[in-house]
Amino acid sequence: MERTRIAYQASLEFARQMDRQDPLKQFRSHFHLPQQPNGQPCLYFCGNSLGLQPRGVRAAVEEVLHDWERMGVEGHFHARHPWMPYHEFLTRAMAGVVGARPQEVVVMNTLTVNLHLMMVSFYRPSPQRHKILIEYDAFPSDKYAVESQIRFHGYDPAEALIELRPRPGEACLRMEDIAEVIESQGNEIALILFGVTNYYTGQLLDMQAITRLGHAQGCVVGFDCAHGAGNVPLQLHQSGADFAVWCSYKYLNSGPGSLAGCFVHERHAHQPDLPRFAGWWGHNKQTRFQMRHAFDPIPGAEGWQLSNPPILSMAAIRASLELFEQAGMDQLRQKALLLTGYLEYLIDELKDERIHLITPRDPQARGCQLSVQVRNAGKQLFERLTAQGVVADWREPDVIRLAPVPLYNSFEDVYTFSTIFNNVLQA
Ligand SMILES: *Cc1c(COP(=O)(O)O)cnc(C)c1O
Repeated sequence: MERTRIAYQASLEFARQMDRQDPLKQFRSHFHLPQQPNGQPCLYFCGNSLGLQPRGVRAAVEEVLHDWERMGVEGHFHARHPWMPYHEFLTRAMAGVVGARPQEVVVMNTLTVNLHLMMVSFYRPSPQRHKILIEYDAFPSDKYAVESQIRFHGYDPAEALIELRPRPGEACLRMEDIAEVIESQGNEIALILFGVTNYYTGQLLDMQAITRLGHAQGCVVGFDCAHGAGNVPLQLHQSGADFAVWCSYKYLNSGPGSLAGCFVHERHAHQPDLPRFAGWWGHNKQTRFQMRHAFDPIPGAEGWQLSNPPILSMAAIRASLELFEQAGMDQLRQKALLLTGYLEYLIDELKDERIHLITPRDPQARGCQLSVQVRNAGKQLFERLTAQGVVADWREPDVIRLAPVPLYNSFEDVYTFSTIFNNVLQA
């Protein structure tokens, strides 16, 4: 049950009461909160861009450093968490975060690399069917990736890339418009690729509905879950999507540039003939070191691995995922609904006519993030917020993105932000 209709109050007392009742309140103490110059913790609302460092990361990384120090190459087999199968230590928790079966998930490479690897296998254009459908406001890296794949296959993005725009005057996509373009042009579309949660608007799309529409027209359907993983419960397996990719440094708190996740639906697990770019880490574990075998892919997502992975980075992911296993995505979602709802309420209470929420009002159509447009504000507004210890994100010309993250943000953070925001708006 989603408890979103709550009688919020704009007071510090109320915020503190909510924090006292919060079943996840102790998780904040598992993170390092960045400090302001005056020694006070920042109001950190940038977990959608770079998640905070879990306190357990240092010990997990030091464990690897120490084992390497003592054992050298023997650490591959004898480290406390042996390096050979290290990625396997992440699978259960990562599969839990994104709602997938273990065989469908692997942690490897970085997001854009995984997107390319997935398109090598799942963007198989033909003269009759070579288009790619994305959202107009896709993240730039995703757009460059799909354009370059289109050119790589000898087609022209000007003709082959369909960028679906919101209606004039609207910021978010409507499901009926997504359905319309898939139904009318689906027989020419090879691949549908949407961000499950849009990085700019924070809109959460219905993966299952889009997948069903795409598959009905014979399209492959993939999702970029960079802003979804660790933010909303994703149910990737149930969605039926063919593949998905996501990074681990946003809501998954695994450190700058850390490794990414990749999902391949189990219906593709046993297709060794699927075209793919291969490397030794995707090869049958029994014969990987016998060097002369023909490539024999591991069934499932692991079969797309290329290299032996950076263990130091994986150690950070392991420490971070432990917190997700303890907290549970459903509990995190329950708190996120309350916390983001509280931020929305407090912003509405400011009753400032310049403010316009770009993010959908429907809690089911968004995650943690609220994108707040302040018309004619100018960047000084944002700079004043920053000077008062608010860490958020500014998008030209006039949008502030704020992500209260249920693992480490409190209701008091949100309330304090609203008082600072109010002062800055009055200034
Ligand atoms: C954060 C983000 C990226 C970043 O890609 P990297 O390969 O990790 O640098 C790409 N796409 C989307 C949608 C993102 O949100």
